[in-house]
Amino acid sequence: MGFRTRFAPSPTGPLHLGHAYSAILAHDSARAAGGAFLLRIDDIDQSRARPIWEKQIHDDLAWLGLTWDGPPRRQSDHLADYRATLDGLAARGLTYPCRCTRRDIREAASAPQEGPAPVGPDGLVYPGTCRARPMTAAQGTDAIRLNMQAALAALPDLPAFTETGPDHPGQHPIDPARMTDAVGDVVLARPGMGASYHLSVVVDDAAQAISHVIRGADLFEATAIHVVLQRLLGLPSPIYHHHRLIRDAAGTRLAKRDDARAIATYRAEGATPQDIRRMVGL
Ligand code: GLU
Repeated sequence: MGFRTRFAPSPTGPLHLGHAYSAILAHDSARAAGGAFLLRIDDIDQSRARPIWEKQIHDDLAWLGLTWDGPPRRQSDHLADYRATLDGLAARGLTYPCRCTRRDIREAASAPQEGPAPVGPDGLVYPGTCRARPMTAAQGTDAIRLNMQAALAALPDLPAFTETGPDHPGQHPIDPARMTDAVGDVVLARPGMGASYHLSVVVDDAAQAISHVIRGADLFEATAIHVVLQRLLGLPSPIYHHHRLIRDAAGTRLAKRDDARAIATYRAEGATPQDIRRMVGL
């Protein structure tokens, strides 16, 4: 399989310097390898996605001089695929409906006899309150969670993934105790939203035949979840490269609301694409 990577922004705000770094790195890696660079619009959260931001993603990437291969894949066009994948996991007894609010989770996790509550890639590790609820009890307002213990037990062997980024290069075997205790029963679908990020990213990377995932170091911890899902679903695992995060002068990671670092702002101020490359250290 050739080198195929992607850039998968969510159209929920302007692209900033951190996105530019991710997109340029992925684009340049694909071009250097004679491979493909694909664009994906991660608009699964329709309550926050806006056409104006999707248009600006196209404008900013084109202005940066990046070209992508084929039409972009838009998540909102594939809701039925995520649903079918979720139904398949449910039919195998690996999911359950959860009606806990964030507050319920906080309270259950901070019960005095429990000791300090573990925090995983999605925040507080879910204490398992709803784990015994059958899928037949699911209501439209429930989230659907993966039963991590059942999921690991369903795997023929424990997978590993390859990381080529600067922080943790090498092979990363999935540690089952860590998955159950420090990651827990992650959400696969949220009420009113077909699929969670974890489920959709795994389906999309496979559908786009991605060989190399290049993304920010903030997602390194989530990768083990993706690899477990890939193995459960019989999908290949890409090679992962988690790059350093672009921080502002105060050392804080850039966020979407940080309009001052928006590529559009630099453009309006007369910066060139070369200036942007320099600013992110490329
Ligand atoms: N839409 C996700 C984000 O912007 C994509 C993450 C990924 O590359 O897997 O964080």
